[in-house]
Amino acid sequence: MTKKWVYLAHNGKAAYEEVIGHEPTLDEMKAIFGGKGAGLMTMTAAGIPVPPASTITTEACVEYMRTDEFPEGMWEQVLDSVKVLEEQTGKTFGKGPNPLLVSVRSGGRLSMPGMMDTVLNLGLNDETRVALAERTGDEWFSYDAYRRFITMFSDIVMDYSREHFEAELEKLKEEEGVELDPEVSLEGLKKLVGIYKQMYQEKFGEPFPSDPYQQLRLSIRAVFDSWNGERAIAYREHEGIPHTWGTAVNVQTMVFGNLGDNSATGVCFTRDPSTGAHEYLYGEWLPNAQGEDVVAGIRTPRKISLQASREWAESRGISEEVRQEKYPSLEEAMPKTYQEFSEIAAKLEAYYDDMQDIEFTIEEGKLWILQTRTGKRTAHASVKIAVDLVDEGVIDEETAVMRVEARYVELFLRPSFDPKAERELIAEGLNASPGAGVGKAVFDAKRAKEMQEAGEDVILVRPETAPDDVPGMLASKGVLTQKGGSTSHAAVVARGANLPCVAGAEGITVDTNKRQFTTTEGEVVKEGEVISIDGFIGEVYRGAVETIETVWEEQTDLLRLLGWADKIRRLGVRANADQADGAEMANRFGSEGIGLARTEHMFFHPVAREAVVRMIVTETKEGREKALEDMLPIQEEDFEALFEVMDGKPVIMRLIDPPMHEFLPAKDELLEEVTRLRCENPGSEELVEKEKMLEIVNRLWETNPMMGLRGCRAGIMYEGLTEMQTRAYFQAACRVAKRGIDVHPEVMIPLVGHVNELTLESEKLKEVAAQVMEEEGVEVPAMFGTMIEVPRAALVAAEIAKEAEFFSFGTNDLTQMTFGFSRDDAQGKFLMQYVDMGILPDDPFQTIDEEGVGKLVAMCVEDARKANPDIEVGICGEHGGDPKSIDFCHRVGLDYVSCSPPRVPVARLAAAQAEIRNREK
Ligand code: PEP
Ligand code: MG
Repeated sequence: MTKKWVYLAHNGKAAYEEVIGHEPTLDEMKAIFGGKGAGLMTMTAAGIPVPPASTITTEACVEYMRTDEFPEGMWEQVLDSVKVLEEQTGKTFGKGPNPLLVSVRSGGRLSMPGMMDTVLNLGLNDETRVALAERTGDEWFSYDAYRRFITMFSDIVMDYSREHFEAELEKLKEEEGVELDPEVSLEGLKKLVGIYKQMYQEKFGEPFPSDPYQQLRLSIRAVFDSWNGERAIAYREHEGIPHTWGTAVNVQTMVFGNLGDNSATGVCFTRDPSTGAHEYLYGEWLPNAQGEDVVAGIRTPRKISLQASREWAESRGISEEVRQEKYPSLEEAMPKTYQEFSEIAAKLEAYYDDMQDIEFTIEEGKLWILQTRTGKRTAHASVKIAVDLVDEGVIDEETAVMRVEARYVELFLRPSFDPKAERELIAEGLNASPGAGVGKAVFDAKRAKEMQEAGEDVILVRPETAPDDVPGMLASKGVLTQKGGSTSHAAVVARGANLPCVAGAEGITVDTNKRQFTTTEGEVVKEGEVISIDGFIGEVYRGAVETIETVWEEQTDLLRLLGWADKIRRLGVRANADQADGAEMANRFGSEGIGLARTEHMFFHPVAREAVVRMIVTETKEGREKALEDMLPIQEEDFEALFEVMDGKPVIMRLIDPPMHEFLPAKDELLEEVTRLRCENPGSEELVEKEKMLEIVNRLWETNPMMGLRGCRAGIMYEGLTEMQTRAYFQAACRVAKRGIDVHPEVMIPLVGHVNELTLESEKLKEVAAQVMEEEGVEVPAMFGTMIEVPRAALVAAEIAKEAEFFSFGTNDLTQMTFGFSRDDAQGKFLMQYVDMGILPDDPFQTIDEEGVGKLVAMCVEDARKANPDIEVGICGEHGGDPKSIDFCHRVGLDYVSCSPPRVPVARLAAAQAEIRNREK
């Protein structure tokens, strides 16, 4: 029997159950039918009014991508499904008197808003157009549907851009002296359809296809092809969606929202996708319109709820009379339908346990739900909705923890504009996506990308955005559009990508040809001029407005969510911080200790820096001892501050690590200066000094400094250096302890590859610690451990573990040395290309390479624990703040992760999610 490629909405779930032998879960449904298809099936089963539909599976798309042909039997199944749709609707495909028209839409497993193509009104030709006119008694509508279909089909299926067709429509409107599409005359529309058909004939040398089955076949192909379109690929790459999934294709009966004033169309979120508020239905509608009209920004959409409508009018200075007359809410205009819709919206939200994004059409008073999907939302809204749903008893705390994407938590620290900062307001629009964006105005998506690649911050300004603009939007610091509502393409994509967006700033006129926009006041902003946009309140300012950090303690919903995460997670979360201010910040964000204090950062202090240089270059023992003596109090002071902030929590002090030449002047600069002095000032003292330094730098110079005299090797070779650091550390610990502070000093030895390196260093340093404690007359609970950064150390973990009380994976170096990729050069030279080319799935310096580096880590943990069951194991490389890597750390049983302070909240949430995810498995 041939495989089943096509399923019907009214019995698809049951039919799939028969194929797989168990009741499919929602995820299984989404994987095969896409989110949209699964939604249609579930809604139909729940008695929600959905226009009859069928779905071609993602499996068919995958097969098509492989062979460039429809899989065997698929087309026959499509033909059968059309017959069923005909039976269900009492209409006929391609024939009067009651012609069946369909939409052909893509629908992937995860929603990719506006990313894929849709063809509407398919099935129209000269004959069915007449039939449609007769059935609806509206010839104008039949021609309007026909011209829309020819435009969409040519654009999406034949790649003949819609702009050509729209230009003709604009010309016609000008000729007729009208502004809006619905004002065009019937005669005008008839002429337009004739022109369109002629354009098609001229372009392709054959008439516009009148056979509806040919239209259908070509459209299905086009939707399959759109999965690999440029903008879909860009979106998937940004969102990390696998390219191999493919899209389903939904063939759905058309219903019409443009059959007169008791017809309408709209889109609606069940909660506010910007803030998460749950005050009313958050959406827009238009009477006598087709779906695309609401989001296209040509007509001003109206609000669904009365309260939203009033708030909207008030914010724009529109009087109540004008609002009621020109922009009534659906609640006022069609109260019964509004009531029915509200009930369905609540039912859908309850069914899916989450905020929904619903598209609907009212055809001559009858409400149809076209689709529902889990609504895209901002980071802020995702937290509020998750927490509210717990309070409403809809979901439990664990579900809420899983609902928020961990990496987005960092956005809560995103700055907003300083309320006290000077600003020059030049335009207002909708607060479509929150955040403060500052950058140079750019009027073209390609240009935005180029400028971003050249290191500029840009704000993309467009009349409205289309899917082709997505790569440019993602490259921008924010998006500003002249047209479009809060459900417009710009708004939806910006929210999904967590970009600030001000949409529908109707006061401005964007001229993309002149690369400028003009404000109501007639002021002009040209490409390259800096503007600031406030996506929290929908305002646009000239110039760069000062930003301020958000107040963490006021993020009450997030703090509750993180509180739940803390109860769930098994991994500890520490921070990488080497100064008191960083440590303080980390504590506010919930850090449980310091997992890495890079002590070399303390040498940025000018006095310490000078002393380090002296220590390196001085040849006499006394000179070196004096230099170390000078460094000690500076280190001690920093350590004291750290211990004070970290009262009661562990602090891991990592001994000096970088290649020593990093503290000395750069060789090429020295050489340049010496050369210059030799010419300009040959006898000078300065020259003698510089020449001496150059000689030292030359002596210390290494071809491969990252593999040279650094880490514990420097500790061993530079006598007294790590002893000084350890002395400073324990003096600080003891002195702070004597002031009543609970200290937990841990000394970490970097870059160990052989156990003897560790033994030598730790024995020497333990003695220093003991001596200091004796001198200070106080005992503190010290621990000594090592970083695991050199692959050899991971391989001989069993031996090393016997000599260490803790391990901390330095996965930056471990990745560098396992791959043999220079951590300083690879990203810029080839690594990003490697990811683009699919050689590597991710940048291994950001997300741990589980197969290689991860294998070493896993093996090392196992061997170490066998040799020393009490050993504490953590990670302090960059990966410690990356959610995917945190999941890995959880699975291999680390005790904690340590990351930069702003990622501490991310790690708390990601650690809890790892626990839930893996427990479920
Ligand atoms: C590491 O190598 O992962 C690490 C944390 O040390 P550093 O980045 O300082 O080399
Ligand atoms: Mg390192």
